[in-house]
Amino acid sequence: MQIREAQEWVKDAWSRSEKRMSKVAELASFMEECGELGEAIRKIEHGKKTQVDMEKEMGDILLCLLTLAIRYKVDLQTAFDKTVESVKEKYIVK
Ligand SMILES: [Mg+2]
Repeated sequence: MQIREAQEWVKDAWSRSEKRMSKVAELASFMEECGELGEAIRKIEHGKKTQVDMEKEMGDILLCLLTLAIRYKVDLQTAFDKTVESVKEKYIVK
C-alpha cells in the first residue's frame, strides 16, 4: 500500500468509525505512541522485547501520523516526496 493509498484508507476508516477524537487527543496519541516505540526499543536493547513489539509500535505511529495528516489536510505522499528530494540533495553523493 502506498502512502497516499494508506491515507485514503485511514480517512475512510475514521469516517465510518464511531470513535471521535479531538485535535489535542490525536496529537497526544501520536506522542504517546512515540513514547511506546522508545520504550520498545529500549527493552529490545535489554532483551526484554521483540522485533514484533517494535513493529507494532511503528504501525501505531504511522496510523497516528496519517490521522494527523488527514486532520490538517496534509498530503503525506507529497510531503514525503519533498523530504526524499531534500535528502537526495543534501546527503546522497552523485
Ligand atoms: Mg502502541
